[in-house]
Amino acid sequence: MFDLIIKNANIVTAERMFSGSVAVSGEKIGALLPADTTELAHSVIDADHAFLFPGLIDAHVHFNDPGFEWREDFSHATQAAALGGITTVVDMPLQNEPALTDQTIFERKHQLLKKKAYIDYAFWGGMINDNLDKLRELNECGVTSFKSFLAPVSNDYTSLDYGRVRKGLEIIKEFNGLAGFHCEDFGIISYNETTAVRKGKTSREDYLQARPVVAELIAVQSIIELSREIGTRVHICHVSHPLVAEAIKRAKYEGVPITAETCPHYLVFNTKQFLEKGMYFKCAPPLRSKEASESLWDYVKDGTLDLIASDHSPCAPKEKSETEGSFKAWGGISGVQTSLQVMFHEIKKRGWSPTILSRMMSRNPAEVFGISKRKGELTPGYDADFVLVDPKIEWEIKEDQLAYLNKQSAFIGYKGVGLPICTILRGQVITENRTVVGKSGEGKLLRRER
Ligand SMILES: [Zn+2]
Repeated sequence: MFDLIIKNANIVTAERMFSGSVAVSGEKIGALLPADTTELAHSVIDADHAFLFPGLIDAHVHFNDPGFEWREDFSHATQAAALGGITTVVDMPLQNEPALTDQTIFERKHQLLKKKAYIDYAFWGGMINDNLDKLRELNECGVTSFKSFLAPVSNDYTSLDYGRVRKGLEIIKEFNGLAGFHCEDFGIISYNETTAVRKGKTSREDYLQARPVVAELIAVQSIIELSREIGTRVHICHVSHPLVAEAIKRAKYEGVPITAETCPHYLVFNTKQFLEKGMYFKCAPPLRSKEASESLWDYVKDGTLDLIASDHSPCAPKEKSETEGSFKAWGGISGVQTSLQVMFHEIKKRGWSPTILSRMMSRNPAEVFGISKRKGELTPGYDADFVLVDPKIEWEIKEDQLAYLNKQSAFIGYKGVGLPICTILRGQVITENRTVVGKSGEGKLLRRER
């Protein structure tokens, strides 16, 4: 007798779709069964032909806790993620106080967040100017990856020069770790920004001009060359432009151990929305042209881009103010709750298989971030994490549906078809009918597998 059976589902793995049921024993997938199974279970959910995906993994979020809970806190953020079908997040080390750059801070963050988590979570470690001697201990703690900025970022989270990147990659190679980069060239961005601000040119157009595609391309090419030389696995965060994706594709052909992600906002928005609607559409790298955004889809389809992540980066409403110009306003888009519905709609609109979503939002992030022995597959023995998507529900994203602390997002007003209706974490229903029914503290820390 199983604990739970979800029957009559359209099961979507990374490779194929088929009609079937999944059975759960404890926290694990017990079996895959026919759609009309008569096996017994303590509870049964009739999916009524809804799509059943493995629980999604968002490998790039900034939940801002501890330290900036007025932007977001782990409780709100993990509930929003759960409503969006996400059962695991990998949280960034910055926009934390202090930033996660050593073992003591790792354990402190874990202690502070564990009672607040509604879904499972893992941590990125930081790689900044003065913590290269802490990378080994962070790896021992179980960080999935190390985040560095090549672009200017903030005073407490320093950007790396290429000398330190190279040294850091040598250390990370020792334990076959993963180094992830925000790729925009420091020199180009800081020169452009300083010059523009000095001249009082701080409009939306000025912001876009200060962060050209070539800055992203130069940084990515440099990381490719360093990875080629040293052999360390590297991951390119938030690819915004097809020229960048093309460089990554070439590097993959040449055997460089590189993976890459993009975000829903680069796929569905462009400079037009930023110029017309303003700071809710501000992010870095910035939104690109309509043509670029459309071409980026080619690299989703051909597998160059390994995964889709939200880069959920919330802020207080006043931080989006444009009164001091567009450079001062907060850069970051809140999207962890809406990634799946937006991507489901867009994939369906293109007539593509939803298996792309299982691949890019579950299996691939599990593999890249070292949690693939438990997560990312619909296979007996794996964690019983699922999301059910009703492909027929039409929606428009509204402020009051968002579970974020600050209910603001570029995605408000976006319309589509196909909505997550039930999320299951390790065999427990945690959301149903757009309501969180899971409990705070049910989410568990995941450490990178050896
Ligand atoms: Zn980010």
